[in-house]
Amino acid sequence: MANLILDSSFVKIPTIKFKKLFINGEFLDSVSGKTFETVDPRTEEVISKIAEATKEDVDIAVKAAREAFDFGPWPRMPGAERAKIMMKWAGLIEQNIEELAALDTIDGGKLYSWCKTVDVPESANILRYYAGAADKIHGEVFKTSRNLHLYTLMEPIGVVGHIIPWNVPSVMFFAKVAPSLAAGCTMVLKPAEQTPLSALFYAHLAKEAGIPDGVINVLPGFGSTAGAAISSHMDIDAVSFTGSTETGRRVMQAAAMSNLKPVSLELGGKSPVLVFDDADVDKAVDLALFGILHNKGEICVAFSRVFVQEGIYDEFEKKVVEKAKNWVVGDPFHPKVQQGPQTSKVQFDKILSYIEHGKNEGATLLTGGKKIGNKGYYIEPTIFTNVKDDMLIAQDEIFGPVMVLSKFRTIEEAIKKANNTKYGLAAGIVTKDLDIANTVSRSIRAGIIWINCYFAFDTDCPFGGYKMSGFGRDYGLDALHKYLQVKSVATPIYNSPWL
Ligand code: NAD
Repeated sequence: MANLILDSSFVKIPTIKFKKLFINGEFLDSVSGKTFETVDPRTEEVISKIAEATKEDVDIAVKAAREAFDFGPWPRMPGAERAKIMMKWAGLIEQNIEELAALDTIDGGKLYSWCKTVDVPESANILRYYAGAADKIHGEVFKTSRNLHLYTLMEPIGVVGHIIPWNVPSVMFFAKVAPSLAAGCTMVLKPAEQTPLSALFYAHLAKEAGIPDGVINVLPGFGSTAGAAISSHMDIDAVSFTGSTETGRRVMQAAAMSNLKPVSLELGGKSPVLVFDDADVDKAVDLALFGILHNKGEICVAFSRVFVQEGIYDEFEKKVVEKAKNWVVGDPFHPKVQQGPQTSKVQFDKILSYIEHGKNEGATLLTGGKKIGNKGYYIEPTIFTNVKDDMLIAQDEIFGPVMVLSKFRTIEEAIKKANNTKYGLAAGIVTKDLDIANTVSRSIRAGIIWINCYFAFDTDCPFGGYKMSGFGRDYGLDALHKYLQVKSVATPIYNSPWL
């Protein structure tokens, strides 16, 4: 069994200052007066009651965003001015890192040290990256064979709806907000109902930085009400969604059945890592284990399927099981803890039921498989082997600390197994052989390939899925272009005939 630390002497519970909807620069109650509870997954206790947005609130927020887009300064100001304000916002985030990190930890069970050193600072970095791009948005001039001055303008797409998940609340917020702000859009963002706290704090800091009223509206609420109202809204010009494949399909359907707004979908995954015979087994074990246990497996790119070549399989299996047994689970504020609680009761129950499924389907449970403790949503790091490719645990995204471990013989077999999924988000390759790395990285249908590493990102690098992991890219300049549209302009030169 994994080690469990429930020492909460390290806990830094912040006061929850922002609990209302952020619309047109103000914190407001919802029209219905409804609230919902946000729960601490460490203790299962209610942290706070948050105003719950429904369709009426979405309508009000979209009106404010439309007004700000059609008549406000944000889309009209020079990119360099937008950049200054975005830079100021980034600075304010850095002044509040500890509090923001603690909000994501109590709301989502994420490791405090990770939020403090990665998620929150990275959020400020994303803002700065796109602030740097805000004054470099331009079209092209065409040299035509006719006497025409023909050129394109890159214009902001309009009012954007952002819908984000709960697993990385801060980074997801800025992966959506920062490029659309740089493009000159205005927006309505719905954080996940499980993790609304940091999003509201970010909204407060946006106002302090000088983002004009109506440009950013943040509406906590549920998917079937507030989320559906965003994706089907006639006055939202584009939707950027990150979440499950199932919900992504609904968002796309709603967009198609309303005003045909373009959507971009960052969806689920069942990512493989392929470990070849020439790999350093100890390093490969560490990589594979971090690949599935990081953020308690609640990561879209998690290496949930681990394929190991037959020459080193036995040694790998022995070592990975030993390390999983010694993994430290517990209070995510504690500096020694490697894995906190699952984000919600729903997620906790879903993972445990997949584990039962795996056992019932005849897979061999090598370690883990149970909840830990009597309070909080803690689950043991779990490893299955003897898993058939068509079993549910080999095909479905479990989104928890559950590794499916299998053996392969040849490169061809490994590629075939890796691609045997409806998803195509990420994949890993562990080898020292350049030929293997090159062949496999070109043969796997996934949006990002990590060779001898995992979770190595840069804001400049586009990120997104193949197959049912979605389409469109976040990060990099690709993301900026999601929020721009091209307008062609033609005018005759020297009063020449234009036809
Ligand atoms: P989810 O699909 O249940 O919810 C995501 C968001 O959509 C939430 O804000 C939710 O309230 C909203 N929503 C739910 N129903 C809706 C509807 N009918 N209309 C509009 N919005 C609706 O996903 P989740 O459980 O919050 O997050 C986990 C999923 O997100 C996993 O599948 C994971 O792989 C995926 N994810 C993908 C990426 C990526 O970049 N590809 C990143 C993080 C998470």
